[in-house]
Amino acid sequence: MSDFEGLKALVTGGASGIGRATAELLAERGAQVAVLDLDPSSVDKPLLAHRADVTDDASVRQAVTAAVAGLGGGLDVLVNNAGIGARGTVEDNPDDEWHRVYDVNVLGMVRTTRACLPHLRASRHAAIVNTCSVAATAGLPQRALYSATKGAVHSLTLAMAADHVREGIRVNCVNPGTVDTPWVGRLLDAAPDPAAERAALEARQPTGRLVSPAEVAGAIAYLASPLSGATTGTALAVDGGMQGL
Ligand code: NAD
Repeated sequence: MSDFEGLKALVTGGASGIGRATAELLAERGAQVAVLDLDPSSVDKPLLAHRADVTDDASVRQAVTAAVAGLGGGLDVLVNNAGIGARGTVEDNPDDEWHRVYDVNVLGMVRTTRACLPHLRASRHAAIVNTCSVAATAGLPQRALYSATKGAVHSLTLAMAADHVREGIRVNCVNPGTVDTPWVGRLLDAAPDPAAERAALEARQPTGRLVSPAEVAGAIAYLASPLSGATTGTALAVDGGMQGL
């Protein structure tokens, strides 16, 4: 199948986890793909790798310009995926930590989108997919700051969809549950008994297992592809039934 033949895509946070699986899947399906990441050293061909910090507007603009040039000009798909986690209740994180996480998870998407919009407007199949989270709407304990940033990503997705629908740019998001990425691996490794912690985490999932990065990539690829051409302003859950069951 080659849903993305002739299309050009940019994936932020594409060096690890969900972003990496997405970049690889889009490339497998025929897209030319550029990855923007804080540390793109592990990214292999055919993916094009560019270093960028989504908290730095100049760095994002420079990397987007270089990526679009590397893709031979033009851009059809933007996957706003770079993000970081945060634990705790409203009492646990000081203001500067709220600003730091919001800067990556929300403003990072704003900056990257702003830099990409002129290119996306020129595409006949323009799509933006934001990596949101089940945390946006689930009311998870110990995740006040993280959930607030993902709630903002959800609202931002709807607002962007409305703003750009007449320009032919679709905007959707995916809401993953607990995904087996290096990020979750790091959290488990920090527990006193990582294997027991993993087993407990799996037992809490309706499916009895974590979501795989490839499963989230599949949902992102669908929302990015012309197959979902009439879909904009939606959030697609990829959570193994976490919210629905
Ligand atoms: P990950 O840590 O494996 O990968 C994140 C990537 O983003 C890394 O390559 C990292 O270098 C990059 N990154 C971080 N800060 C950056 C910055 N300032 N500029 C550029 N790149 C930056 O994480 P993941 O689990 O694949 O998470 C990816 C996205 O999925 C995040 O937005 C996260 O909130 C979301 N998500 C993850 C889960 C999960 O359970 N893993 C669940 C729901 C949503």
